[in-house]
Amino acid sequence: MSTRTLQQVIPSIAVSDGAGVKLRRSLGQSPAQRVDPFLMLDEFSSDDPNDYIAGFPAHPHRGFETVTYMLEGHFLHEDNLGHRGDLRSGGVQWMTAGRGIIHSEMPQQEHGRVHGFQLWINLPAREKMKPAAYRDLQPETIPQVELAGGGSARVIAGTLDDGGRRIDGPMQGLSTAPRYFDVRLPAGARFAQDIPAGHAVLAYPYVGNLLVGPAADARPLRARSAGVFSFGTRIDVAAGEQEVRFLLLAAQPIGEPIAQYGPFVMNTREEIEQAIADYQHGTLVEAPVR
Ligand code: FE
Repeated sequence: MSTRTLQQVIPSIAVSDGAGVKLRRSLGQSPAQRVDPFLMLDEFSSDDPNDYIAGFPAHPHRGFETVTYMLEGHFLHEDNLGHRGDLRSGGVQWMTAGRGIIHSEMPQQEHGRVHGFQLWINLPAREKMKPAAYRDLQPETIPQVELAGGGSARVIAGTLDDGGRRIDGPMQGLSTAPRYFDVRLPAGARFAQDIPAGHAVLAYPYVGNLLVGPAADARPLRARSAGVFSFGTRIDVAAGEQEVRFLLLAAQPIGEPIAQYGPFVMNTREEIEQAIADYQHGTLVEAPVR
C-alpha cells in the first residue's frame, strides 16, 4: 500500500466565460494544467446576479463530457435537438457531447445565490464521435451517506468505500471509470479511500482547507485550489481545525494526444478543423434517429 501525497497545486483564478459569467478556473487555465483525463474545472459562486445572469447562450461541444453539479441555484439546459433539462440545487447533469451538441445553459433565477461546478472529462478517440447523450441526475438519485469517521459524502460517480460499506453513485461503467464524490468533513475528521494505482486523483476544497497525506506528514491544500495527488494506491485526507468541503475526483488516464480549440477536444489538428467545418456547415450535430 502506498499513500498518495500532494504533488501539484493549481490555485483557481478569476475568469469570465459564456456571456460574461464570473468563474474560478483551476484545471484548464492552460494546456499545461490538465490532469488526464480531466480537462477543466470551474467553480461558479455568487450572490450577485450580475455575475451569472447572462448565462451561457447557445454554443457547441465535441469530443468530451461536461459534468455540471449545482450546489445551489437553478439553471435550464436546452439543446438544438429539443432536449431540455432542469438543473436544481443538489442535482447533476452529466452530458456526453460525443460527436456534437449545441446547447445553452441559462440561469432560471433573477436573484439569490448560485454555486456549482463544471468539470470537463475527456473521451478516448474511439468514443469522441459517438452520439450525444445526457443524464440529468435529480438530487434524490444521488446517495448521501454519513461517513463512519465523521462527516458525509454525496456519491455522484463511481463507488465509495466507507470502511467496507460500498455506496454506488448513479454514474457507473464509463470508460474512464470516474469517481466524483462531494465530501464534508468536520474539524479533525479523516477520510481514506483506496483508488487504483494508475488513476489520476484530484481534490478541490471549496470550503476550508484540506490536509493531504498521512497525519505525520500532511500538506495543506487551500480552499479553491485543485490539488493533484501523486500516484499510489490510497488517499488519506483530513480536515484541520475547521470543517472542510471538497470534491474528490479520480479517473483512469486516457494517454492520447489532445488537440483543443475552445469547446472542441479531439486528438489531431485535422479533427479540430473538421469540427469547425462541421459547425459552420450545420453538421456538427447528428439528427436524431426517428
Ligand atoms: Fe456548454
